[in-house]
Amino acid sequence: MKTRTVISKSPEETRSFAASLAAELQDGAVLALHGELGSGKTCFVQGLARALGVRQAVTSPTFTIVNEYRGRCPLVHMDLYRISDPEELLELDFESYLDAQGITVIEWAERSGDWLPDNTMHIYFETGTDLDTRTITVASGTRS
Ligand code: ADP
Ligand code: MG
Repeated sequence: MKTRTVISKSPEETRSFAASLAAELQDGAVLALHGELGSGKTCFVQGLARALGVRQAVTSPTFTIVNEYRGRCPLVHMDLYRISDPEELLELDFESYLDAQGITVIEWAERSGDWLPDNTMHIYFETGTDLDTRTITVASGTRS
């Protein structure tokens, strides 16, 4: 597994980092975002959406759980914050989103139990002591 870490000093830096990562993603990619509230997960998705040519404003689907956007490819944005039991995901047809075309990005992905595909790209967001600093660690590739 390959990991890399970047330090972001502003929301815009987080968005542009996401945009640069978008270039590496293949159709069907699944991204699992981990980190506390306010650590920059939604901000990251905004950068991803921008790179994919999504014109709508991206906000957190905390209440709807899933938002779908259309850019150059479909972008599915999930937020599992309100999911307390992975069984609840059956109602959402969670697995069909994972198999769908396009890119699926999931905030609070750890709440999905063990349903994520092996090749999921895991991204960890940490808030620093400085208000605008975030440490972003990307772990990609199949675990061996
Ligand atoms: P999450 O989805 O993880 O709850 P959000 O992306 O919604 O977090 O919110 C992150 C908040 O932190 C925003 O208010 C944003 O302006 C602020 N922020 C400050 N510095 C950064 C940074 N370097 N990267 C991302 N967000 C930052
Ligand atoms: Mg969020």
